[in-house]
Amino acid sequence: MCKVIAICNQKGGVSKTTSTVNLGVGMVREGKRVLVIDADPQGNLSQSLGIENPDELEIALPTIMEQIIMDEEFEMSEGIIHHVEGIDLMPCNIDLSGVDVSLVNAMSREFVLKTYVDCMREYYDYILIDCMPSLGMITVNALTASDSVLIPVQAAYLPVKGLEQLIATIFRVRKHLNPGIQFEGILISMLNARTNYAKDIIELITEYYGESIPIFDSRIPFSVKAAETSAAGVSIFSLDKKHPVAGAYEELTKEVLAHE
Ligand code: ATP
Ligand code: MG
Repeated sequence: MCKVIAICNQKGGVSKTTSTVNLGVGMVREGKRVLVIDADPQGNLSQSLGIENPDELEIALPTIMEQIIMDEEFEMSEGIIHHVEGIDLMPCNIDLSGVDVSLVNAMSREFVLKTYVDCMREYYDYILIDCMPSLGMITVNALTASDSVLIPVQAAYLPVKGLEQLIATIFRVRKHLNPGIQFEGILISMLNARTNYAKDIIELITEYYGESIPIFDSRIPFSVKAAETSAAGVSIFSLDKKHPVAGAYEELTKEVLAHE
């Protein structure tokens, strides 16, 4: 059975893309078949996996979504890129901004990405969707297509207000579009464990959300090494598998796999 997880937070720069890469590769290292979908017109996930200029790709997620909107057939393997570390990538580029506009008049506009994802389920154990930093129609499509949502939170600012908006959106999606969607959990990321401020934020998140949303025991430390992986086009496991960030993503992977 395939599980589809949206990596989502409308706050920018909280490590959605970095977590998608490292959780995805972490799962492959545990023997799983994994597809990661870039659902962001910035194309950061595609770049992080070595596609230097996603805007030059002939086929990417926007191409497939336009085909679905137009009721055209698409090939299952179309546009999929195999990465050296064993994950498959459906890349994305700036054309996704245009799809956002096409969706306004599309029939069943919230279900376009789900149509694609459901076709791919039989080939993978996990599909991870890297969402863009907004709660617009593309993100609603990602949430509608997913079995659960993993929320990375940066432990360096007060995230409580923004999380409320995200959670309200997830509840609306559950009510109207995808009754089965669950919370995979909140991932505390970019953590500088030595500061009291970080401790306060963890306490605050636990106090506000701990009852209703699982919070992962694994936390991702803040480290420049994590940032270097995107430029290198590989995961932290390839770059430095003994690094604490690699250890943290390995633990996170085990926690997610245990949720099966
Ligand atoms: P966006 O909202 O723009 O899509 P995002 O939530 O996907 O952003 P990332 O792109 O993964 O966030 O990370 C933002 C920046 O922080 C990047 O430069 C990334 O390399 C860096 N970064 C990610 N994880 C860490 C970490 N654990 N420690 C330090 N820097 C990190
Ligand atoms: Mg991103």
